Amino acid sequence: GEPPAQFRRVLLKLSGESFCRPGEGGINAEEVRRIADQAARVARRGIELAIVVGGGNILRGATLKGSHVIKEATGHYMGMMATVINGLALQDALEGLGCQTRLMTPIHMNEVAEPYIRRRALTHLSRGRVIILAAGTGSPFVTTDTAAALRGKELEVDVVLKATRVDGIYSADPEKNPHAVRYESLDFDRVMREDLKVMDGAAIGMCRDNGLPIIVFDFKREGNIERVVSGEPIGTWVSD
Ligand code: UDP
Repeated sequence: GEPPAQFRRVLLKLSGESFCRPGEGGINAEEVRRIADQAARVARRGIELAIVVGGGNILRGATLKGSHVIKEATGHYMGMMATVINGLALQDALEGLGCQTRLMTPIHMNEVAEPYIRRRALTHLSRGRVIILAAGTGSPFVTTDTAAALRGKELEVDVVLKATRVDGIYSADPEKNPHAVRYESLDFDRVMREDLKVMDGAAIGMCRDNGLPIIVFDFKREGNIERVVSGEPIGTWVSD
């Protein structure tokens, strides 16, 4: 299929790497401001925006696999906590730019975020608030990509925008193989058959089963988030 000219409601997946400098970890205020600035411009255009934040800049549960000290499941809960840290940072950055936001999490922590309730999330969106969805699905052993697919479906978004460091999906890793070619569009079957790196397998499967398209694009290029929501053909469009 072809992407529509303009989206009405989108889900933006921001990996933990959007919160730090390339190759570093932790949180860099300037990087957070930059990503918030792009997101704020989308919200100002009247596009309903839900953001799922990752936590890989701080911790991924899978890295603790095999440690006999911390259980892998605990590691995943720690990873979910990391996404809350990023969510808090993004919330302040967006509010500083005049955006109304709500931070929502399926793991209850009422002092810092409100509980994720689907109908409440939809109300926030309809009132022009940016919702920041932290703590993923609330369950261990999956990633925030899966949370993005799941929330994208239940919030009936037009598209999942997967922000990455490369400008789309390539036939091979473009940072390693100079002959790698970029695809403008792909169907889900081909992504799965060729095991192309888009999102993790569970998330791809969920998007495919639910007919939820994905755009993989480079968020580091200034203005790209706006370009992608206004239907400019950047990145790679993945659909049925
Ligand atoms: N996580 C989890 N359940 C979820 C979402 C995340 O257990 O529903 C954990 C998991 O360990 C994951 C970590 O939180 O590695 C951080 O999320 P993710 O790796 O998706 O962050 P990103 O790669 O987007 O920075």
